Amino acid sequence: MNYKIGISNSTDHFIRINAWVSNPNENNFNLQLPAWRPGRYELANYAKNIRCFEVSNEKGELVPFKKLNKDLWEVFANGFNKVHISYEYYANQADAGASFVGEQLLYLNPVNCFMYVEGRMNDAFEITLDIPNDWQIACQLKHQDKTLFAPHFDALADSPFFASPNLVHHSFGLNQTNIHFWFEGGTTNNMDKLEADTRAYAQAQINIFGELPLSDYHFLYLLTPQKFRHGVEHADSTVIAMGPAAELDQPEFYNDFIAISSHELFHLWNIKRIRPSEMLPYDFTKENYSELGYVYEGITTYYGDLMLLRSGVWDFEQYASSLESDLDRHYNNAGRFNYSVAQSSFDTWLDGYVPGVKGRKVSIYMEGLIAAMVADIMIVEHTAGRFRLDDVLRRLYQETYKKGKGYSKQLYQELLQEISGLSFEDYFFDLIDGKGKWDEYVQKMLEAIGLELIVTNDGDGLSVCKVQKCSNLTPNQKVCFEMWVKKC
Ligand SMILES: [Zn+2]
Repeated sequence: MNYKIGISNSTDHFIRINAWVSNPNENNFNLQLPAWRPGRYELANYAKNIRCFEVSNEKGELVPFKKLNKDLWEVFANGFNKVHISYEYYANQADAGASFVGEQLLYLNPVNCFMYVEGRMNDAFEITLDIPNDWQIACQLKHQDKTLFAPHFDALADSPFFASPNLVHHSFGLNQTNIHFWFEGGTTNNMDKLEADTRAYAQAQINIFGELPLSDYHFLYLLTPQKFRHGVEHADSTVIAMGPAAELDQPEFYNDFIAISSHELFHLWNIKRIRPSEMLPYDFTKENYSELGYVYEGITTYYGDLMLLRSGVWDFEQYASSLESDLDRHYNNAGRFNYSVAQSSFDTWLDGYVPGVKGRKVSIYMEGLIAAMVADIMIVEHTAGRFRLDDVLRRLYQETYKKGKGYSKQLYQELLQEISGLSFEDYFFDLIDGKGKWDEYVQKMLEAIGLELIVTNDGDGLSVCKVQKCSNLTPNQKVCFEMWVKKC
């Protein structure tokens, strides 16, 4: 399928999409637009952004079509070996998972706005951009001049791009891989520090899995004038939208910037390659329910920060401060007494990205992080520091992604048990599928590595968490803490 993308009206934020579908069997066919995007497990209904949809034949005559549901069009192409589809897409959302067009920026997440012919997701795609000659393109897809090449729809859907005359590009080699920073909307004045910190935490992540399985990785940084924070992972890239751009080099903002970057990089293994069976392959037409959000988001949230600590990018105080704000969210959410993290994962499709009804649910990010930390420390403690959650993840990577498979809860539990030599029955019963038992696990596990959690009340009824090192560590606590923070 060939696409040509132009900016039809940058002031009103519309792009013009032209697509040519070869129709070798000259039959009617259906065109599908995705209903959601991987990384945000809720329906997005992108079709509401489409206007002026038309179909024509090679002679330019209109071809009839009919909508079969909200994002599926039947095209009556019987008798035509090539059909032209055209429509406009409203691109006016500059977050990490949407699309935006302005006078000097064409930023698309193809999963928002590109269609595929039902039953032909494995067709190759060519996307030609109608942009000025001095604009640069940042994208994980192979591209030449103004044309991007995707071997199939999954690759296209997973490949956001920036096209702009203002991109700031910096790249460096890490082992066999080229790491690229692409900045739009501003940049850092301290590229050397950003490179050094990225090298450090990326290497710590690579050491867990044993390889960085790609030739190029792209950080697409969209700096916004206003306060903002959002990141989305892809197989060989990430988009991170953050602001205000003017504060990038200030310590507090920079720490958060590097933390979200570490989180998104970790996803290249955990979800983009190690993936629950029920999401392999993704079904873009409807909900892909999974109870495993505590693995794909929880473990990633835990490791995003932990890698900064272990690689020395953060000191313990910086790490503890981030953990405290995560624990604050946990202790101030009565949902932990009412709904499990597995059920909350299933329900991201219902209300996963809004605060929701008070006390109804927990978060696959926060409670997922705590579940990952508890599992990690259980392994460290029971094996006297010989193993940790890293070992489970490495096995999961080898036994699923490397064999072309997804994983199940059962496999994850089996690996936890095999590596730790401990039953995880209670852990799954109490924490993952249960409710109300979180706080005792948290206190116990932090204590096992010599950390003390103090929860106080701020006077307005909100809990405030403080994590600090115990003054006198037992030999066991010392061994466990050292293993927990040890560089790979
Ligand atoms: Zn994430």
